[in-house]
Amino acid sequence: MNSPTLIVGLEVHVQLLTESKLFCGCANRFNPDEPNTQTCPVCLGLPGSLPVMNERAFRLALKTGLALNCDISPFTKWDRKQYYYPDLPKGYQISQYDLPFSHDGWLEIDGDGDDGGRRRIGIIRAHLEEDAGKNLHDESGRGGDSRVDLNRAGTPLLEIVSQPDIRSPQEAKRYLEDLKLLLTYLGVSDCNMQEGSLRCDANVNLHVTTDDGKVAATPIVEVKNLNSFRGVEQAVEHEARRQLDEFHRTGRKLGDPGVEKETRGWNADRGVTFAQRGKEEASDYRYFPDPDLAPVTVDEELLETIQDELPEFPAERRARFGTAWGLSNYDAAVIVDQGAVFADYFERVAKTCGDGKQAANWVTQDVLRELNERQLGIADFPIAADLLGRLLAKVVAGELTVKSGREVFAELLARTDRGEDIGGGDIDAIVAEKGLAVVADTGALEVVVERVIANNPNAAEAFRGGKPQAIGKLIGEVMREVKGADAKVVRQMIVERLSR
Ligand SMILES: [Zn+2]
Repeated sequence: MNSPTLIVGLEVHVQLLTESKLFCGCANRFNPDEPNTQTCPVCLGLPGSLPVMNERAFRLALKTGLALNCDISPFTKWDRKQYYYPDLPKGYQISQYDLPFSHDGWLEIDGDGDDGGRRRIGIIRAHLEEDAGKNLHDESGRGGDSRVDLNRAGTPLLEIVSQPDIRSPQEAKRYLEDLKLLLTYLGVSDCNMQEGSLRCDANVNLHVTTDDGKVAATPIVEVKNLNSFRGVEQAVEHEARRQLDEFHRTGRKLGDPGVEKETRGWNADRGVTFAQRGKEEASDYRYFPDPDLAPVTVDEELLETIQDELPEFPAERRARFGTAWGLSNYDAAVIVDQGAVFADYFERVAKTCGDGKQAANWVTQDVLRELNERQLGIADFPIAADLLGRLLAKVVAGELTVKSGREVFAELLARTDRGEDIGGGDIDAIVAEKGLAVVADTGALEVVVERVIANNPNAAEAFRGGKPQAIGKLIGEVMREVKGADAKVVRQMIVERLSR
């Protein structure tokens, strides 16, 4: 029996970065202090209130549709999706049903192989809708009350539905990572998964070749509310195993009488999916066009304006960093995947010092390490890109060794830690203060080499006697005396002196 084929499609919900909600003027902010303070008659669903579309939200949505290579509908409308739930006071959600603003696009991701091959994951559609509020159950932990917070009700959500083109748990994770990166480059969402700005449902099933050579599809399962990359990967992996197991036990397959799409939840602690309520069919929602909202027409002029606003995409940027700055694919990916602000920082450092590889080394190692230790984003990093660029220019020019450059870097950070303003950052002063300038005067260096050899006759003798490692002590002594010395030069001088 062949191994089964995994079939996965992802539905991703993204909170858009707007000032106000989708159909009213209430603020669109995460977690303000008090529940039910960002509400008005429209998002509370009071009778007689009328929604008005937020144009900025619609433009952000169009931007995303274009970036996902979608066809943009010239005519789109709003539909009411009827269901009753306490966090949805109107009794319906305003969404887009049969005429979404965009459809039939794709996102390219890395394939599973190591060959650098790319895979195109189809996008069925992307549409706009309003989010519901939040039900808060038993916050005291003593049982009893449930509360409803409507601050989130009516905030703009973009739903992006992929084709079932994803073939492995790793691909599912990569698709979500690349989508998130693209959305942050576009500036349409902060994609903060802890705050629920990016949530994902996974539709999963298997195509199993049975002993008689026929292909059977297992019933489709929708795993709801996955809110981490790892969660998506693990949930898909678990579902694949569970479905194969169940198929072997029961033989139940798609198309059998009584087999319906099943909705399951994800328990991250136990690493398993669990059964939830049955999935409503589309007809249950009794969609119909919202009579309070006018349809939206999108003309070529608007599309061209938005097309012009599109930034350089992550994949393009990775490629350009390779050609323009000589970076390896790996380094380019590390930098670009940190986000647009980080990539901008790198590029500024590279331009200032004139050496892309040197800039990449420092940015991916020294800067990233400090950011992780300090739990900071690059926007809050105390050493500005220009300043780091100027420091690296000295390294590139051979005025400072890499080691001395690191000392200056550490000193700049130490000064900001003490609350000192490094503003323009006087690199020259630090270099002078610490005696870090590269000693170009070989005559002076030779004097020190002579002295160190004379003071360490045992090490010198051991080196001459065939113990090359003995030179380490001599180099160390010289470097202690002349901080700006280049270790390679010192080594060479000692070897020459001792071989005379
Ligand atoms: Zn409101």
